[in-house]
Amino acid sequence: MRYAIISDIHANLEAFLAVLSEIDKCGTDGILCLGDIVGYGASPNECVEIMRERQIFTLSGNHDKAACGLTEPVDFNSTARRAVLWTREKLTPESREFLRGLPEEAEYDDFMIVHGAPSDPDRYILSEYDAEEEFPLLGDLILCFFGHTHVRVLYSLSGEMVQVSEDERVKLLDGTRYLVNPGSVGQPRDGDPRAAFLIYDQNGEVEFRRVEYPIEIAQRKIIESGLDRILAERLSLGY
Ligand code: ZN
Repeated sequence: MRYAIISDIHANLEAFLAVLSEIDKCGTDGILCLGDIVGYGASPNECVEIMRERQIFTLSGNHDKAACGLTEPVDFNSTARRAVLWTREKLTPESREFLRGLPEEAEYDDFMIVHGAPSDPDRYILSEYDAEEEFPLLGDLILCFFGHTHVRVLYSLSGEMVQVSEDERVKLLDGTRYLVNPGSVGQPRDGDPRAAFLIYDQNGEVEFRRVEYPIEIAQRKIIESGLDRILAERLSLGY
């Protein structure tokens, strides 16, 4: 099986559409989303609608949970909190129901998917040290895909040693386990403003992909909707 793994769309319709059209060209067997469909961007209902129509399997992220009222955005910074409250106002009842029904993690034959980390969906894996604590929770699985940080990265563990790779294509080795973040579709924070996703081929390869999208349109919608300006500006910086 070949899966497209996407994460952190954050109501950026333009980025989402660009990624989906690239995925359609690659020919995959399925798309899995690691959560945060909404929050920050100006098109929450449109993004949820696509998830429903295309029946894309998706987890819930911390922004989704706060936007649909399952949690309160207490540990969010002020910009993120305002965006969550704005999104709450905009969500249709159908979108809200959809977000309320999403699972927090899922397991497939040889891998699992989570929003933040295997130990806690809200935890950020930001370093080899964070990754080291999470590897034991993979059990017999060889791989875990996570999002939440908006930074593309691959950690591997063979023996005792956690390593980081920034290669675009990684061949998976027997006896090695992996924690992999595809980066963010709708608000990349690794210095590259292009939308990020990855292709996982169960024959043993992970390929990171980037795709250009019309950033100015997403930015204009954010500004016109009254969301904080910084949310528009950061899209062209990729940070
Ligand atoms: Zn996010």
